[in-house]
Amino acid sequence: MVTGIACLRIGIAALLISSFTQSLYAVEPDSTPFPQTFSTDTEQREADALKFVNGKLQVWQKRMNLPNWSVQVRLVRKSTLVPKTLGGISWDRGAMSATINVLSTYDYTVPVQEMLDDMEFTIVHELVHLHLSSLPRSEASRSAEEGVVNEIAATLIRLAKK
Ligand SMILES: [Zn+2]
Repeated sequence: MVTGIACLRIGIAALLISSFTQSLYAVEPDSTPFPQTFSTDTEQREADALKFVNGKLQVWQKRMNLPNWSVQVRLVRKSTLVPKTLGGISWDRGAMSATINVLSTYDYTVPVQEMLDDMEFTIVHELVHLHLSSLPRSEASRSAEEGVVNEIAATLIRLAKK
């Protein structure tokens, strides 16, 4: 399969996220803005979050050794995503390009820190899908892939925050 899509289901992510939300950003060796600088103004908050996800994308694309891919990240309203998901990715292996959709701040109701952890998790999760995009996929392998992708993404984030 040359092109494809994948998504992140809310239930699984919430379950996994609860195990590492205690970690702080302070020790992360990247230039992503700290959560406490986030504005309470909704438009500014969305703009800050977009900067945040772009920063995280750069960091994780490098860490995960995907330098040849041209990856874009967008914040999208929940109507754009598959129901009950927090994000998704579409890719074109021929063109080596991919677009990651991350749920917009307008549709997040959790505290800022939790939202940011979630957004970072989504990016890592979708980049794992990108690595797996070279493997054959079927409807049957999809749900198994979700579980594996979540485990790998959670492990990577845990390791990065040690
Ligand atoms: Zn997924």
